[in-house]
Amino acid sequence: MERLSDKQKILIVDDSEMNRSILADMLGEEYEIMEAEDGNEGVAMLQQHSSEIALVLLDIVMPNLDGFGVLSMMNRYRWIEEVPVIMISAERGSSHVERAFEMGVTDFISRPFDALLVHRRVVNTILLYTKQKKLVSLVADQIYEKEHRSSLMIDILSNIVEFRNGESGLHVRHVHTLTEMLLKVLIHKTDRYHLSQTDISIISTASALHDVGKISIDENVLNKPGRLTKEEFEIMKTHSMIGAEMLAGLPIHQDEPLVKAAYEICRWHHERYDGRGYPDGLKGDEIPISAQIVALADVYDALTSERVYKKAFSHEKAVTMILNGECGTFNPLLMECLEECADGIQEELRDDNAFRRNQREMQNIAREMHKYEELTASERTLQLLEHERMKYNFFADLSKEIQFEFTLQPPMVTLSAWGAETLGLEEIVMEPETDPRVMELIGKDSWRGLADALRATTPGQPTVTFDCLIHYKESAARWTRILARAIWSPDEPPRYTGAIGKAIDVHDSRMHLDNLERMATHDAMTGLLNHATAKKRIQERLEERPEGRYALAILDLDHFKSANDNYGHSFGDQVLIYMADKLRQNTRGGDIAARVGGDEMVVFLECKIEVEPAIERIFNAVTGMYEQFPLSVSIGVATTEKVGTDYETLFHAADQALYTVKRSGRGHYRFYDESMDKTLSAISPIDSDGEEG
Ligand code: GH3
Ligand code: MG
Repeated sequence: MERLSDKQKILIVDDSEMNRSILADMLGEEYEIMEAEDGNEGVAMLQQHSSEIALVLLDIVMPNLDGFGVLSMMNRYRWIEEVPVIMISAERGSSHVERAFEMGVTDFISRPFDALLVHRRVVNTILLYTKQKKLVSLVADQIYEKEHRSSLMIDILSNIVEFRNGESGLHVRHVHTLTEMLLKVLIHKTDRYHLSQTDISIISTASALHDVGKISIDENVLNKPGRLTKEEFEIMKTHSMIGAEMLAGLPIHQDEPLVKAAYEICRWHHERYDGRGYPDGLKGDEIPISAQIVALADVYDALTSERVYKKAFSHEKAVTMILNGECGTFNPLLMECLEECADGIQEELRDDNAFRRNQREMQNIAREMHKYEELTASERTLQLLEHERMKYNFFADLSKEIQFEFTLQPPMVTLSAWGAETLGLEEIVMEPETDPRVMELIGKDSWRGLADALRATTPGQPTVTFDCLIHYKESAARWTRILARAIWSPDEPPRYTGAIGKAIDVHDSRMHLDNLERMATHDAMTGLLNHATAKKRIQERLEERPEGRYALAILDLDHFKSANDNYGHSFGDQVLIYMADKLRQNTRGGDIAARVGGDEMVVFLECKIEVEPAIERIFNAVTGMYEQFPLSVSIGVATTEKVGTDYETLFHAADQALYTVKRSGRGHYRFYDESMDKTLSAISPIDSDGEEG
């Protein structure tokens, strides 16, 4: 026997006994714990007890059937709609988390977990679902009550009519059931009549009124034992028109689809497809489909019932008679429908299913409504929001960022867990503007500045970047950049309601930005400027002070390839880094050193008196041994004095000089002069040893 105080059940599916017992210990006092050792066992328990289980705690990695396997079974059998699932797993990869949420879990907790947190989330989830289930059953009860009452009224009305007709009281119910059956087959066959599920329900319900006009037929005619005379039959035939008139005469509800359907049915349920029926002699689809179907149902039930003037025919006989056209002509499509559902008719009429809409069916309707109807939309939205919030918190906790949400009403700041920790605040701060801790942290002026900037945004331009000093916990104030997005309501006109955002320690981010900038202007390996940047800076200098005396030197290591070949590429790198260091050490602040590419580097110098000593110094610095490798360098130099202040000309001239050095034995430096142009154009390219070919 079930007791009211029965604890709600939690199913723990986890292959580790230790994990199960930790969870069971934690929750066992308030809930009844069921344990499954793997996915298969879990599914078996759900199969037996899904309606009793209030929550599933599910592991991912398990033998036989894993957590995702369990989830897909729960989806297949739609248990997931009834039973919330919290996944607990050490697999914290975001693809797992995403997949779990996609498969309908309510929450994801990563291991190792905090016992308090698990407890709180379990309690919350169960409360939420219990509330939702209550709501569903409440709505179901209401629908059931309504349906029940209206079908009761129809029953009473039908019984009154049938009592007068001397019928059993079952005729109306049978016609209803048959009408519904035929309609269901018909809509599968064709879309010709544009019938929806609602139409089926309306027509079936309205069918109950098909004989309502008989109320006004003389008792002696209505219940005459034996055949009616021609005159009596004419009187009898008036019942269809009378029924229709009764409905048309209703002072209210004229626009109700149910009343319209009932009118058609009353008036035309004795018409026949070949035009030989009454009262209007309509033909084919001039007869509304509702009336065609009720006519067929009416004939079948009349044949199989005992009447004062006849015995009951068997089901088979009745169907054969109708199909043979012994009771008038019907729509051939409906004949097909009758044939198709013939086998099920007797059973259906015996069980009278149409009138036994059980609670379960009502629950289904209610559940659908719960999902889609406005009535319960807010509840559903709340659930979605809760889901989003959980996902957000999960990722925010992983991100190690100070993230916040700010609302004007109520005045509240919600911080990510990591953010709260870093700032030494609670996760939720009410009335931040008057909270001394918050004001100490950011300062009143900065707070105002940020608030003003946010308020000054527009829905189209909602973002704000705001730099201010933040007094982090246990450290000096640091410049912090706040990136925020104002939240504007969807109203007309939109209202500013708060903001979301994050705070970035500018020290960290500046380093990051600096790195990015560096990457664009510097050579990654040697740390020297890259050629493009050097060129730009040199040109600027030449334009700024064209009267200065400048020299541009191009350096190229001799036989550097052999360093790579003999000692490996990374040794070669070390050589280049060493060379760059030497250049840095032997140039002054105003000089510019850069890597052109490969083992070729440039130095741009301003020389107050003489150029050569500076070049000599550099040459000596880069010449000698680097570990086991003999460093030898060739340098070509060009001066503005000689070639002018155009960078390209300067570079070209230095390159010519370098070329000359390479061709004349390497390992020294030369200054450019015009004679080089002539020699260079006169000779053939150098071979790999730099000697003339
Ligand atoms: P030369 O005396 O004619 O200058 O002979 P070299 O061997 O120095 O030849 P060259 O200057 O034409 O070629 C430079 C070589 O440097 C080519 C390439 O294999 C190597 N190299 C270029 N960039 C790098 C680098 O970043 N790292 C290393 N390790 N080697 C590089
Ligand atoms: Mg070289």
